[in-house]
Amino acid sequence: MLEIKALTTELDSDSGLIRAVDALTLSIHQGETFALVGESGCGKSMTALSILRLLPDSGRVSSGSVDLDGTDIMQVAEARMRDFRGRRISIIFQEPSTSLNPVMTVGRQITEVIERHTSVRGEAALAKAVDWLQRVGIPEPERRVNDYPFQMSGGQKQRVMIAIALAAEPDVVIADEPTTALDVTIQAQILDLLKELQRTQKMAMLLITHDIAIVSQMAHRVALMYAGQVVEVAEAAEFFARPLHPYAVNLFDALPDESKRGRQLASIAGSVPALNQEFSGCRFADRCADAMDQCRRSPPELGEFSSGHTVRCFLYDGATVTHRPTHTREVDQLIAADSPAGATVLDVCDYKVWFPIRKGLFQRTVGHVKAVDGVSFSIAAGRTLALVGESGSGKTTVGKALLQLLRGKAEISGSALLSGQSLDVLSGANLRAARQTVQIVFQDPFASLNPRMRVHEILEEGVASLHPEVAPVTRRERVASLLEKVGLTRSALERYPHEFSGGQRQRLAIARALAVEPRLIVADEPTSALDVSVQAQILNLLKQLQQELGVAYLFITHNFGVVEYLAHDIAVMKNGKLVETGTAQAILHNPQHEYTRTLLSAVPRLVKATSFSAEF
Ligand code: SF4
Repeated sequence: MLEIKALTTELDSDSGLIRAVDALTLSIHQGETFALVGESGCGKSMTALSILRLLPDSGRVSSGSVDLDGTDIMQVAEARMRDFRGRRISIIFQEPSTSLNPVMTVGRQITEVIERHTSVRGEAALAKAVDWLQRVGIPEPERRVNDYPFQMSGGQKQRVMIAIALAAEPDVVIADEPTTALDVTIQAQILDLLKELQRTQKMAMLLITHDIAIVSQMAHRVALMYAGQVVEVAEAAEFFARPLHPYAVNLFDALPDESKRGRQLASIAGSVPALNQEFSGCRFADRCADAMDQCRRSPPELGEFSSGHTVRCFLYDGATVTHRPTHTREVDQLIAADSPAGATVLDVCDYKVWFPIRKGLFQRTVGHVKAVDGVSFSIAAGRTLALVGESGSGKTTVGKALLQLLRGKAEISGSALLSGQSLDVLSGANLRAARQTVQIVFQDPFASLNPRMRVHEILEEGVASLHPEVAPVTRRERVASLLEKVGLTRSALERYPHEFSGGQRQRLAIARALAVEPRLIVADEPTSALDVSVQAQILNLLKQLQQELGVAYLFITHNFGVVEYLAHDIAVMKNGKLVETGTAQAILHNPQHEYTRTLLSAVPRLVKATSFSAEF
């Protein structure tokens, strides 16, 4: 249905010409789900935009062809291309909030596609739009068809996006991270819906994702991309049973899960190389434990290892395996056993955070949003409590309220004792001093580090305010050794946050939190913006610091792989209340509450994938 040959996409940038996609070749059959996986910056989304000819102004497809059922769509005029987009090939974007038109009803956005690409008009088109809303699972579609996007939840907006993408019944749909912005339960519904629609419509789907578990549930075939190139293609079942490329092997090793508790996760050293250079050898060579002389001298070609399984690596010379790729060395390195729980660091009892709803001229309080409504839990030194639940359940509000970041904005009651002391009643210098015991690491390290301050200023700020008696030279020495502790060099002290990668910035945020020697760190989704290999480095670091320093973590997350790997205890939150708390072992293996069971069953897991040839 879709045959891509030697597709090359170039982008102009301040640092020169970037070859974002380099000679990409793959084909997708009717009714097949083909997954394109890889870490950020490897060219997945650029491939999608190239196929649809929706590249930014600075980009162009410099060579190659994209054959859609017999027509090379790279060669057709733009006016004709508009007939192809939506009708023959369409795309579901990652973020429905920014992809839907906020000033048009969802019904109008669906009928626009139907009227543009088919002969159906007016009332009949509206009836079709209602039908599509029904098919994608929007309740009361006759009424909701007149709603605007802001009147819908995140999951419903993504369903509308899917309805728009499929309304003209395209032959091929590209789903670019279609569930990344959604909660696990909504994600499970959307994935089931896509599977069902694909089966009934017999369309081909190019699924772009960084989530390997989703690939294992959805895909018939998989292509792994690295630095703009495809490095491995295989049937999904084969890929998961026998990954060949060292990058693929390392990625699997880096995924956190329960079986890896007590061990360090594999992390892939270094980062994806810049694509504004000419490569003389293998692009993965600097990060590969198996790199040979030959790998740096000449670039490997994509070669067939077995029927339908191709790989770009010199380890596989024809079908002869010279040797198996090395699993990253750290993988077998055992972590010291968890020390027994120490004294209680945080004791939260019947904690409530209510936001007042004000109305009228005098802004009188007419009600409350009960974001957190009577939660109780405790964390001991050296332990990790994972606070899990869907977005809007109140997890982040708990963290922020504990750090006194919601003072004056919300009504807070109940008690939260940090090492026996209540922060709620403190103010001024006393509060500043008490804040030393608890720090927070946010999800987005870039937004939480001041871009105008050098690293040493960022790290010294907290020490200076809490320990003004410490001499500047001692302070500098202390933050320098902290940097080394989080795996950065002293040379970083004089640099600005923008000079670091995402993973390095998160290390800086952790170093900043540690600078004041806290007893508790609230970590709010600290790895959700990071790639798998970088996530592994940060999780290793957090675990190691806990063992060395005995710091306790309140880990707010929706990633169950991370929970399984890191948490000692789990608290499940729904609508501001805790529905279940217990040890990680008990909650993961014997959940008692219906909601916990629903949440756990919605988590995508690595499964043996379906065989395309068996189904079709
Ligand atoms: Fe590693 Fe060499 Fe294979 Fe590249 S070609 S992945 S450097 S072994």
